Amino acid sequence: MDSAEYERKIAARFATFDQDGNGYIDREDFSVAAKAVLAEFGTTARSDKGQAVFAGAEAFWQGMAGIADVDGDQRVTREEFITGAAKRLRDNPQRFAEIARPFLRAVIAVADEDGRGATPTAAARVLRVLGIAPETAGQVATALDGDGDGRLLEDEVLSAFAGYCGVEAPDA
Ligand code: CA
Ligand code: CA
Repeated sequence: MDSAEYERKIAARFATFDQDGNGYIDREDFSVAAKAVLAEFGTTARSDKGQAVFAGAEAFWQGMAGIADVDGDQRVTREEFITGAAKRLRDNPQRFAEIARPFLRAVIAVADEDGRGATPTAAARVLRVLGIAPETAGQVATALDGDGDGRLLEDEVLSAFAGYCGVEAPDA
């Protein structure tokens, strides 16, 4: 990967986390994401599933802040994301993805409308409300179902998320 492509991918990852688009990642972005997912599936924040999504979002934010908020001001700037999170993403995307596991698990539970597991269609809805372009969301969601049984497993989602986060730096 050349450095222009690397920059583009990092910028795209940052934009995904900066849900409200104000130029930095903070707790509010995770709260915005949680609310968007719950609204899409008509789940109330007070329900068990809703509370799990908010708790997962908070844990995700704490993990992100622990890795990337170098100056401790409760905001992850683009600079902090590149130096902190991106390094961790590159070195160990699977481990990075683990900080997202409670959130992903809770979101899958919300997207599981019939109690038989979340479908790729439901996953595409999640991705769309999180700001992923509709055509990309559909492709990604279909690819998530690795064994093609029409239901998504937590580990399938987690490893896909790790793959998305795993940005290779250009050779120095
Ligand atoms: Ca933000
Ligand atoms: Ca900071």
